[in-house]
Amino acid sequence: MSKTPATPYQAKTIAFKPGERNIFFHILTACNLACKHCYINREQHGSGSVSLATMIDWLTLFYNPAKDNNLIFLGGEPTLHKDLARGIKKAREIGYASVTVDTNGYLFHDLLDHIDPSDAVISFSLDGPEAAVNDPLRGAGVFEICTANIRKAVARNFTVSVIFTASNYNIDALQRMPQLLKQLGVSRFFIQVIGLRGKSATSADKLQLSREQWLATVPEVAAQAAATGMEVIFPKVFLGEGEAFQCAGNVAENFFIFPNGRVYLCPLCEDLPIHSYEIVSNALMAKNGITEKKLFSLDIAEGCVMNKLLQPENILYDASGRPQHRISCCLLKQQILP
Ligand code: SF4
Ligand code: SF4
Repeated sequence: MSKTPATPYQAKTIAFKPGERNIFFHILTACNLACKHCYINREQHGSGSVSLATMIDWLTLFYNPAKDNNLIFLGGEPTLHKDLARGIKKAREIGYASVTVDTNGYLFHDLLDHIDPSDAVISFSLDGPEAAVNDPLRGAGVFEICTANIRKAVARNFTVSVIFTASNYNIDALQRMPQLLKQLGVSRFFIQVIGLRGKSATSADKLQLSREQWLATVPEVAAQAAATGMEVIFPKVFLGEGEAFQCAGNVAENFFIFPNGRVYLCPLCEDLPIHSYEIVSNALMAKNGITEKKLFSLDIAEGCVMNKLLQPENILYDASGRPQHRISCCLLKQQILP
């Protein structure tokens, strides 16, 4: 791999912004694919889908006119919902500052024919630079369909981003992604780290990356991608010396909404019934008992409490038992602008 350009492609940490609210709205849990690392957990989140009326009610419920409200439509596969396009239009009418659709690339219900490029960013999940890497993870034929629809969206002037979930399966192929994305006309590249949720929590294979693998590969590829002219965003994961730890559950406004009415503040908690809120009769009700909020208040040397509970093998300790590094909030991102 070539050497990381020293400048200007330096990552900067995107601090949590008090004036911002991010709504991650799972409008259904159904999907046409069965990816190896799928985060969806139907035992916890059901197999339902919100109606258009509920979609609009909840979009209105979570909109805060005093903030910049960013909306991300998720599934399952959100384009399987026949009313997604109407939901996008409605969100714009309500006043959402940005709308993104996270899709596996199938773009059901001819989504692009029913919305305008100014309505939403289309974010495609692609886990490899060629079918040989992507398709064993996401399904036979997925690479071809996904890249064809990326081309179609770019040709129609939509802003297109790609999410790559880095794991032991595909980390060695990451360095070939920037060239493909450049050819496809993608303007934003998100590199995610695999988390132990849903299917990946029960997989017999070792999916998780070591600190060394992550640091040896991701920042450098991110810089290379930015050098080709796209914005790159990737999680911070490891805090450096002197960098403050903050839990987004305490200092930011992120709501992860599921069709069964559960509302989480932390995505790492989604496999557990410890959500902070429930939507009952179209009102947001705080949940009683032990919830994720109680965990956010714990101050531990390792940084993120949920990481320590779910993925303790991520943390190495020195001879005196002190953690060698702290794990940042999974929602803390770094950005490199082109
Ligand atoms: S990861 Fe996304 S595209 Fe893949 S099976 Fe799960 S919901 Fe579907
Ligand atoms: S990932 Fe960790 S630090 Fe971030 S919101 Fe969840 S518990 Fe808090």
